[in-house]
Amino acid sequence: MKISEYVRKFEALCEEHDIPPETVMSFLVELSQRERWNLYLHYEEDMPEDLVPEFEAGMERILNDEPMAHVLGYSWFYGYRIPVNEDVLIPRPETEELCAYTLARIDRNFPEGEVVCADIGTGSGAIAITLCKEEPRVSMTATDISEEALVMARKAAELNGANIRFLAGDMLQPLIEQGIRLDVLVCNPPYIPDDEAMERSVVDFEPHVALFGGSDGLKFYREVFRGCRQVLKEKAFMAFEMGWNQREAMSRLVEEILPGVPYEILKDMNGKDRMLFVYFNCDKQ
Ligand code: SAM
Ligand code: GLN
Repeated sequence: MKISEYVRKFEALCEEHDIPPETVMSFLVELSQRERWNLYLHYEEDMPEDLVPEFEAGMERILNDEPMAHVLGYSWFYGYRIPVNEDVLIPRPETEELCAYTLARIDRNFPEGEVVCADIGTGSGAIAITLCKEEPRVSMTATDISEEALVMARKAAELNGANIRFLAGDMLQPLIEQGIRLDVLVCNPPYIPDDEAMERSVVDFEPHVALFGGSDGLKFYREVFRGCRQVLKEKAFMAFEMGWNQREAMSRLVEEILPGVPYEILKDMNGKDRMLFVYFNCDKQ
């Protein structure tokens, strides 16, 4: 069967299963890049025989709601290839934006010398790796409560040549224990309220420890706001990802726990409130 025929067949199946039909081409592009052949050049030819079983088995899993990143065993983030499995959250495009905004604020506030950073709840390691690779002055510590996640993050750092110190533990605890003082704290904590209904592809395949943040989804922000002065330098900033519907609750929380500290909430490319920056003697962009 020709590649184009395969694509049409599986696109139709995706539609029946409520899965975006573009997934078929994305999957094939990844498989063909690995084989180093040009998908578009061979689009009207028969699919190579050795690829058929893998393609069909992979599509079968995707049609069963399994994320494509799990089928491939990796995901792309900020141009870096990040290994993923069921122990880590698949890094999301919104989080790439968090990295971009953080890098711009590092440039502005810490234009010279070492920048001491931590990524709390590093999961796959995506944020920590990106900041390290994009800004060589960054000295990065990445933490997670999940030892299984840290195994994946270490692997990702090694594959991407990022020099990161990994610590296991609960939120700020490892930093406090090591006496680390930060210029920049980045954190994409679990922020989904415990009782929120979610898509099967997320809730059945991604780790719940990476998703749920207490009854209002704000449990981890509360903890970090309360403890942050123990791990930040006098001049520092914090960058968080947050839920699109948390603007008001988040503003109340910052103003209650860190009164008078300047902050801003930024929207992602879909126009949704998505990032919180808190500035201690730092400039907004
Ligand atoms: N940083 C990754 C990213 O942006 O793609 C993963 C973010 S995921 C939403 C949250 C991460 O926080 C998970 O890796 C989870 O294991 C970790 N986590 C959950 N509870 C934690 C805790 N009490 N202390 C440290 N990390 C925790
Ligand atoms: N954005 C993720 C999702 O909707 C959740 C990430 C998080 O809780 N930090 O699945």
